[in-house]
Amino acid sequence: MPESEEQNIHLMSDILASQVAAGEVVERPASVVKELVENSIDAGARSVRVELRRGGVSLIKVTDDGCGMSKADASLCLQRHATSKLVQVEDLFAIRQLGFRGEALPSIASVSHLTLTTRRAADVEGWRVSAEGGVEAPLMNAGCAPGTEISVCNLFFNTPVRRKFLKSDETEAGHVEHQVRLHALAFPEIRFTYVRDGQMVFDVPATHDLRQRIADFVGRETAAALMRIRPTEAPGVRVSGYLMPISAARRNRRMQYIFLNGRPVEDQIINRAVRDGYGGFPPGLHPALFLYLEVEPALVDVNVHPAKREVRFRRPAEITLAVMDAVAATLAAHARGEAEDEPARPEPEPQPEPVRKTAPAAAPARPAPPAAAPVPRPEPRPALVLKPLVTPRQQELELPPAPAPVPAPEPQAAPLPNFRHIGTLHNQYAIFENKEGMVLMSPRAARERIIFERLQESNRRPLESQRLLVPELLELDTRDMGIALEVKPQLEQAGFQLSPFGRNTLRIEAIPAILPMRKVNDFVQELLRVFTSGEVRLTRARSPFEPFARQLARQYAMQEDVTAYLQNPLPLLASLLECEIPYCSPGGKSTLLPFPMAELNRRFQTQ
Ligand code: ADP
Ligand code: MG
Repeated sequence: MPESEEQNIHLMSDILASQVAAGEVVERPASVVKELVENSIDAGARSVRVELRRGGVSLIKVTDDGCGMSKADASLCLQRHATSKLVQVEDLFAIRQLGFRGEALPSIASVSHLTLTTRRAADVEGWRVSAEGGVEAPLMNAGCAPGTEISVCNLFFNTPVRRKFLKSDETEAGHVEHQVRLHALAFPEIRFTYVRDGQMVFDVPATHDLRQRIADFVGRETAAALMRIRPTEAPGVRVSGYLMPISAARRNRRMQYIFLNGRPVEDQIINRAVRDGYGGFPPGLHPALFLYLEVEPALVDVNVHPAKREVRFRRPAEITLAVMDAVAATLAAHARGEAEDEPARPEPEPQPEPVRKTAPAAAPARPAPPAAAPVPRPEPRPALVLKPLVTPRQQELELPPAPAPVPAPEPQAAPLPNFRHIGTLHNQYAIFENKEGMVLMSPRAARERIIFERLQESNRRPLESQRLLVPELLELDTRDMGIALEVKPQLEQAGFQLSPFGRNTLRIEAIPAILPMRKVNDFVQELLRVFTSGEVRLTRARSPFEPFARQLARQYAMQEDVTAYLQNPLPLLASLLECEIPYCSPGGKSTLLPFPMAELNRRFQTQ
């Protein structure tokens, strides 16, 4: 054959194409479970049972009580691109179901021995279809309960390399369990049962109460500390779920469950919005939370990742804002001790037992065990006394140049019946005890947070100034003078009053009343240095005052003699707890570290 007629391009057979697709969709047993359970959810199942043997290599079985398939559909569903869910390209922009590519079943079938048994409730008989390595056997009648059961045996029997890549049974089973748990958290109204090597691992009853479903997995004690996210709506977006207190933050993301339209997602934009919502978060730690986003299907593209774990937003700024607001509002309400307005909802109708292969077609359905009693809500924290209004600037104080001694008095010591001061650690931290256990407070981080929030109040009303008896003159070089004039609006918003005095001199006439600094000159010099050096920039921020206030608070708290607070730290704690976000400084350092008794007991017993 002349070289020019040599044919190198061949059309792939459907089975080969499925195996290639399987390379993307079917990585390991957990991905098979994911695809099968998604199909069950799409089929309207109220109960899904997952069974595993030998880490999924010898058997993965998913049984549901969903709508089942007709004879015609059963004979088609193992074919490539057979789907009942997507008919037109435009439908891609209105995807409400979890599956839509018609790829999963043929992909799984191409690398295993697959048997599917299905029956619609209205049909008198069901159908069984099976395939080995993608080669289908003829369709047969089957006596079975309504719903669908799919058994996948000998996974990767014909792709030995893939099989070699699998980890131990233990590891694979762990991934499967996590996958089923994700589905169960995404759909609390569906009962999920997971059985491994003949042993029941969990069987969580259907519930309308998300907190109940979470409690089924994390335990009651942890669930009791959950803070319900105030449902937040923005055009095309709805945010709900639960936050854990900052003390439950982890070094990994294992306690971070984020769902978008029923799919678990890992998304940078959402992660960042969550951290911003916490108002800064200790670096290296990840907040623990159960976050549910419902986004208008047209605003999100789920078709960018083969396993649909990543998404792309069409209007990311709106998602970011909605998530940030929801998180921040929840923490603020919780810090104020507001009771949660958990809506009481009726439990769903008892669900029939999951169908079993051996069950006769007309087996009477047994009701599921009743849902467990609702978890008792945590006692709301006593409402703290609200801050008095800040006096407006007109009422200026005449003070000598070296003003009030540091530290400034904490004006409103709210009663804190919960906390008892029990000591000081290394002249650095205050030690308290409360009902839950022990709490350490860093007075410096606490002061930073309090000052920052007070400065932020100036967004709503002007802050009080303290007039200097003798104005300070600050000599600056030309560049510093330029910066000083640039940040003048922020300086004034904070309560400084200054005016240029000649070419290179700044005249400081008043300073913020809440920051009675001793060495005004040095303080302002240092503040300006941070901005001239470019360490902090105001222009990139959403509000240029916020980074300014953060810097001002940090610098002020740094130079304060905070040991003075350690003698009687209760007023400081009270002021801290009145903050919107009391747990950390605006820069993300912890202000309070709780050591709950449960944790202490656990640690002492295991040592
Ligand atoms: P997709 O989910 O993308 O449509 P699949 O290959 O996963 O593709 O499934 C193909 C089709 O088989 C589905 O569209 C659905 O009609 C049918 N099907 C699969 N699993 C089930 C099930 N558990 N119950 C009812 N129908 C199912
Ligand atoms: Mg599917």
